[in-house]
Amino acid sequence: MKSNLPRFKYHPDPIATGSFRELDGPVICPCCKKETSIIYAGPFYSINNVENLCPYCIASGAAAEKFSGEFQDSESVDEVSDPAKLEELTQRTPGYCGWQQEYWRAHCDDYCAYLGTVGYAELEELGLADEIRETLPNDWYSEIFTDVTKDGSIAGYLFQCLHCGKRLLHIDCD
Ligand SMILES: [Zn+2]
Ligand SMILES: [Zn+2]
Repeated sequence: MKSNLPRFKYHPDPIATGSFRELDGPVICPCCKKETSIIYAGPFYSINNVENLCPYCIASGAAAEKFSGEFQDSESVDEVSDPAKLEELTQRTPGYCGWQQEYWRAHCDDYCAYLGTVGYAELEELGLADEIRETLPNDWYSEIFTDVTKDGSIAGYLFQCLHCGKRLLHIDCD
């Protein structure tokens, strides 16, 4: 099943980021009622309590429609001019788990691909720290940037622009 997962342009590897979880045995997806051994483990903003969604019902938009929900809060995103892109992000893209409020970065007037959690040490090692420092949105981010640790209490969430390749960061504290 893993090999034919649907493709999410804003979240290219949701298994690696932990937004999809692989189970030992199958469960029933509450949307399509089919068996799935990969389930969604990220946030779903819906008045319904929905668990065990399969990747296909996220990709098709069926889950967002059936349960009137969003995988990413449409208020917690950078601005992009095309509303169809916001719809793809919030209704057909698996979200990710942050500490408080997941925020989705954008660049070149499109949402970025979410790559996973990252710390300052990893960014230094990858030679990305300077590039990322330039795109931090405000002074608060700049001050705590060097304190960011992968999956720590000041956590970094790495994004990459789908158009120019630039890397951007969201920082969240517990
Ligand atoms: Zn399903
Ligand atoms: Zn860009």
